[in-house]
Amino acid sequence: MSSTYGVIKFKDNQILSFVYYGTSDIVIPGLHTDVKEIWDKNKESWDKLLDCNHTGEEVEAYAEYLGCSWITTACRECGVINGLLMTDDFEDELVRGKPDWVKEFCIKTWGKE
Ligand SMILES: [Zn+2]
Repeated sequence: MSSTYGVIKFKDNQILSFVYYGTSDIVIPGLHTDVKEIWDKNKESWDKLLDCNHTGEEVEAYAEYLGCSWITTACRECGVINGLLMTDDFEDELVRGKPDWVKEFCIKTWGKE
């Protein structure tokens, strides 16, 4: 599969989901509350990103395809990741492995890590 889920965590512990498009090594910016529905809803997300003029909040992001996490920014109001999206641009900041909060999220969502 060329796309996998990703998740971000805000500093207040809210977790939202996104799609990581492995074929092009890019984060699809749209954020969703239900990780099981992200595949249907990610089409509009580029428009949402273009409309977002906010600075965003610092978040920790994790993409299953990469098996890595990194720090980026996201806008809760617009529901998008508005930090770096091309993996080439944040490659140096990737931290290997699945963080504990992602494992907990996966167990809660799918019943397994
Ligand atoms: Zn915004």
